[in-house]
Amino acid sequence: MAPATDTHCPYCALQCAMTLTPVAEGAAPAGETPVTSRDDSPEASVAPVQVAGRDFPTNRGGLCKKGWTSAELLRRGGRLTAPLLRGADGELRETTWEVALDAVADGIRRTRERHGADAVGVFGGGGLTNEKAYQLGKFARVAIGTSRIDYDGRFCMSSAAAAGTRAFGVDRGLPFPLTDLDDADTILLLGTNVAETMPPFVGHLAGAQAAGGLIVVDPRRTPTARLTEDGRGLHVQPAPGTDLVLLLGLAHVVLTEGLADEGYLAARTTGLDALRRTIAAWWPSRVQAKTGVPAATVRALARRLAAGGRTFILTGRGVEQHVDGTDTATAAINLALLLGLPGRPGSGYGTLTGQGNGQGGREHGQKCDQLPGYRKIIDPAARAHVARVWGVPASSIPGPGVPAVELLQSLGRAGGVRTLLVHGSNVVVSAPNAGAVRRGLAELDLLVVADFFLSETAGLADIVLPVCQWAEEEGTMTSLEGRVLRRRRALQPPDGVRDELWILQQLADRLDAPSTWPVDPREVFDELRRASAGGIADYSGIDDALLDAGEAAYWPYPRGSSGTPRLFADRFHHDDGRARLVPVTPRASSPERPARGAGPDRLTLVTGRLLEHYQSGAQTRRVPELADAQPVARLSLHPATAASLGVGDGERVEVSSARGTAHATVALSRDIRPDTAFLPFHFPGDETANLVTSDAVDPVSAMPEFKTAAVRVRRLDPQEAG
Ligand code: SF4
Repeated sequence: MAPATDTHCPYCALQCAMTLTPVAEGAAPAGETPVTSRDDSPEASVAPVQVAGRDFPTNRGGLCKKGWTSAELLRRGGRLTAPLLRGADGELRETTWEVALDAVADGIRRTRERHGADAVGVFGGGGLTNEKAYQLGKFARVAIGTSRIDYDGRFCMSSAAAAGTRAFGVDRGLPFPLTDLDDADTILLLGTNVAETMPPFVGHLAGAQAAGGLIVVDPRRTPTARLTEDGRGLHVQPAPGTDLVLLLGLAHVVLTEGLADEGYLAARTTGLDALRRTIAAWWPSRVQAKTGVPAATVRALARRLAAGGRTFILTGRGVEQHVDGTDTATAAINLALLLGLPGRPGSGYGTLTGQGNGQGGREHGQKCDQLPGYRKIIDPAARAHVARVWGVPASSIPGPGVPAVELLQSLGRAGGVRTLLVHGSNVVVSAPNAGAVRRGLAELDLLVVADFFLSETAGLADIVLPVCQWAEEEGTMTSLEGRVLRRRRALQPPDGVRDELWILQQLADRLDAPSTWPVDPREVFDELRRASAGGIADYSGIDDALLDAGEAAYWPYPRGSSGTPRLFADRFHHDDGRARLVPVTPRASSPERPARGAGPDRLTLVTGRLLEHYQSGAQTRRVPELADAQPVARLSLHPATAASLGVGDGERVEVSSARGTAHATVALSRDIRPDTAFLPFHFPGDETANLVTSDAVDPVSAMPEFKTAAVRVRRLDPQEAG
């Protein structure tokens, strides 16, 4: 029997460590029961590997139910094992790799000739390995010659990334090891529901809970908010979309009550005077009027944050996925700087990356404005360096392109993208204003999707390319800590499946692309290291031997160094070494934010994740244990709101906005504010939450506003409900 393989979970950015043990056909390891498929399709089979949690600083042997069941997908029925090509009759049929790759290359060439290289778009994913993300960025720019590349991490991390870069000069989600949280006495969690999204994370909150210092800001009483009960902390429930005002109020109290760390501010920051001026207008009673959070709570919260000797402030998508997400993350950073937290041992500010490689995915060239190593594509020196590594003239590197939402809005339009390659993303479920995205895809000359199941987006493609899953490939991932981890192959992929590095090499050959296109992930990582050398996210000192030896490799890790577990100990990454306090104020009111006191016929919809599902659900909806627990989209409504609307628990409703409508099943809950509704975004078809979300974006980060949509809710009559 093949030996056990140490690797990491395929899903979220916590990247829990796990061991995969091959399961002999018809047998299970002694004392254990393999996960057994309940799929009735003929191809379904027993999971080929047994999953066990492995001791590691972030998960300490724990896994959530997504991790435990992840191996089920490896041999699940419905796995794609041959390329698919859409025929003249509109049906997708299996074909050979030669035919499929020739058709993709022909399509790219044709579009390029007729409409220019920027008419070919590439859409990547935050779950791709560093090697694939790197190679995809290079492929777009060198083999296709297009500037039109971006990725779905734009939907998740771009506001926090922009705020971090603006304030600190660098964007690493957690600039410290996660275990630093263990000794905290105060942790402020803003808009993150870790108890559902990454359950093993909760173990790191125990110290703050014991000290009564876990503070959760969320409009919903989530499982994470419940961790504050019984004297373990405080749950603050502001109106959706008012987090920025709350943070300004906290900063106001810190400054007016003399709670700021003046010595730290003088030595390590710039911009205090301008910040003082903007903060002055946000006294607690005004904040109460805007957010619904009592002024006394605002004061008490600020005092608690200042009193804690070991305090952390952490943000998540709940406060970031807004049109003012960058400013809200900036306000959280300002508060942290006023308190002297970043860089102080035992304290800090961080943002919790969601997707498995959301951190690495944004470091190596999938973003339209970046080159590997977190280099700016408009920086002549960065272009020259990367061009040398790629062996091409710097002038041939196109860009910058346009961010994800704008790229998707351009599909099929004059001057827009006409051929689109999608890797590791299910945009018809995960993108905002999903109905418009679907219509755009239908206008394309050619849609190519690389995936391992026929996702909702793959189902619309002209060509589908079946690719490896996590346990079938080698590579590296970068966790939410900025720690680079090895992903290892535990079993061979099914016959007919190919690695994306091989696919890109084959296409580059067919397109007569310059440069070299290795298919071995080690060779690609070697090139990535060279391309990143000297950049912000410098990986040049990291190699497989070091990772295989178990070294905790945090970037920046220049050659000859031992990496950087903790950033900002002595200086920030701006030239003068100081952090920037950036004044921010709320923008004019958004049409998505109903005035306070609006009736139940106009609710604020918040979208988010469930414990059982991951992102668009393309994977987790195929795992029976997860799908059985959460089979349909449930709309959380307060009982009083539901009564006003005349809808009852379990009834089918239509949720509509200016973009479109989605259907859902009502779930009554006193954990949500009466003016708010919550809908998970994992479900396809008419239950796609993003049919109603807005594709308005933050002006700095281009991140869409997933967390605030003005909606109406109506009961469906039995015929409509089906
Ligand atoms: Fe996987 Fe995230 Fe669950 Fe850990 S918390 S097992 S990384 S999905």
